[in-house]
Amino acid sequence: MKSKKIWLSSPHMGVAEQQFVNEAFETNWIAPLGPHVDGFEKDLSTFLGGDEHVAALSSGTGALHLALVMLNVGPGDEVICQSMTFSASANPIKYIGATPVFVDSEADTWNMDPNYLEDAILHRIAAGKKPKAIIVVHLYGMPAKMKEIISIAERYEIPLIEDAAEALGSHIDGKMCGTMGVMSIFSFNGNKIITTSGGGALVSPNKQYITKCKFLATQARDDAPHYQHSHVGYNYRMSNISAGIGRGQMQVLPERVSKRREIFDHYVSLFGDLPGIHFLKEPEGFFSNRWLSTLTIDPSNGINVTREILRHAFLEDNIESRPLWKPMHMQPVFKNCLFFGNHLSDKLFENGLCLPSGSNLTDDELERVFKIMNSILVS
Ligand SMILES: *Cc1c(COP(=O)(O)O)cnc(C)c1O
Repeated sequence: MKSKKIWLSSPHMGVAEQQFVNEAFETNWIAPLGPHVDGFEKDLSTFLGGDEHVAALSSGTGALHLALVMLNVGPGDEVICQSMTFSASANPIKYIGATPVFVDSEADTWNMDPNYLEDAILHRIAAGKKPKAIIVVHLYGMPAKMKEIISIAERYEIPLIEDAAEALGSHIDGKMCGTMGVMSIFSFNGNKIITTSGGGALVSPNKQYITKCKFLATQARDDAPHYQHSHVGYNYRMSNISAGIGRGQMQVLPERVSKRREIFDHYVSLFGDLPGIHFLKEPEGFFSNRWLSTLTIDPSNGINVTREILRHAFLEDNIESRPLWKPMHMQPVFKNCLFFGNHLSDKLFENGLCLPSGSNLTDDELERVFKIMNSILVS
């Protein structure tokens, strides 16, 4: 008989979500928008420090799409994007007919390498194609080297968009991820640290962007009694039901972050000292929500095991694990795009694995995971 499935990261409801959804039913706010949407936006803004304006949307992908629309990125333009990420960071660049230019990762955070970012900018300026925007990602909750990246973006006057889809609750020197870009996005998809069953948000310190975002996301209706449009619109707003789930989830977010960090620390305490095994440390001042616990296995460094051996051993016991994000410059769909770097992200993809990390994992489930790792890594 097969053991019960252990997931990488599954939805984890608290107690208030159901009450908020019931309230939506009782008041018949089943339509898109409604009081929970306003409430959820307020909760998020407060969590982020209170200075941010927030638009709750139907997905993180839609949020990125609207960010690029509002920066007037258009057909033929180029946008710099971190190569190692989920495809949703790059796809919106294609939606508007622009071209992504990919930048490699650095070893300390696995996010955009500031040196290659500058190389890419200089190369494209020399070619007469100054990039219209930069999309930086905080993978698995680990903040990117924002001080360096912001300073480069400012030096060349290129707007910086922060893809903080995986990094709600992460910060650098107390400054929250999602508050450091011209605009930033979050995702509340089912596998993220909190979920609205599907949803996202656009965040900005600039209220004008958020006002315009809400207008564009509700079909760009001009102020008139009939349907009047002077812009192309989108149907990207979050529903009042989803936002009700989100309000409940915001109440337990700090607990979710603590639990994920605890799981990561547990992995490190058991396997962190083995030769060839590497877990990413937080650089000084960096705080990761540890959305997913990840490791790399370097078979040339004193260990007789590969990532694939461990992944298959998990699979045998019905435990989900997954290689790190396959970089965009290696993806068939983006094969003709420019790439700047030394292929560190290729190696991370080859050797890296995401481990079960959900905040709802039981002690018994974690013990099953540790047992498999012990049998493969410690021999
Ligand atoms: C999940 C994710 C997205 C997309 O968010 P959706 O809400 O699923 O559209 C974008 N970027 C990154 C890095 C993600 O992990």
